[in-house]
Amino acid sequence: MECWNNGIVGRRTHHSIVPFFQYSNWGEAPNLRVEDMKEQIDNLVKLQGIETESNRIRSILSNVTQRLDSLSSMLNEFEQTTKDEELRLDDLEKNYRSYKSDIEMNTSRLKKSQERLGFIKTNKEYQSLLKEIEDVKTINSQIEDQMLEGLEQMDDIERVLADRDNEYKKLSEQVNSEKQTITRETEKNNKRLAELDAEWKRFSSKIDPQLLKIYFKVRDKAGGIAVAPVKDAVCRGCNMNIPSQMYNDLRRCDSLKFCPSCQRIIYWKDT
Ligand SMILES: [Zn+2]
Repeated sequence: MECWNNGIVGRRTHHSIVPFFQYSNWGEAPNLRVEDMKEQIDNLVKLQGIETESNRIRSILSNVTQRLDSLSSMLNEFEQTTKDEELRLDDLEKNYRSYKSDIEMNTSRLKKSQERLGFIKTNKEYQSLLKEIEDVKTINSQIEDQMLEGLEQMDDIERVLADRDNEYKKLSEQVNSEKQTITRETEKNNKRLAELDAEWKRFSSKIDPQLLKIYFKVRDKAGGIAVAPVKDAVCRGCNMNIPSQMYNDLRRCDSLKFCPSCQRIIYWKDT
């Protein structure tokens, strides 16, 4: 904590008892000596710093499962799309084989019909068989068109699938490396959180129990942040101006002050 050291130190040696609160809606407050108060404010600021960092880490940790899941589902979606393309390729291959066997069947029918042409007696029968032969030829040519179209589609899919092999390798490397980073970060964050918990216990035990009670009250009512710095006469908890007399008093760091706007415990911070 940065405090403005002027002639105030001399006054502190009188061990004067001053009311802890200049302004408060937070209930009964302890009376403390000026020098004890400075230390208490210091500890409150540290406690707030510890809680702010812990909250930031907890919020990161609460997202870890979701981040890992979303990486896994990215890979799953990619795999699913590949499977869909492979199924489409299978279907096209099946169709191609079925067209091919239709052509073979029709071709052998044609061969037989053409052989029969030589043995036909009447013109009417001859014309009718010729028409049948033409019809089968037309059907075969239509089937061949469809086979060509199928071949083109199969080529396209095979090209896409070959590219997807490389893309999948890249994506799964990226996903694995991101997962490893998240796991490393999580270990580090859990370790830091344990350190912060220990620090929290250490500093909270140094704070006057009555004052700590008030700290919790403010914290619960003021959205989780009980202590806010004042810079350039502005409370950084609510961004409202502090009255100039209060700002000047605040610089001495010898009494506990509350922001008139957000009611948080405030302290002077050099800019
Ligand atoms: Zn404020």
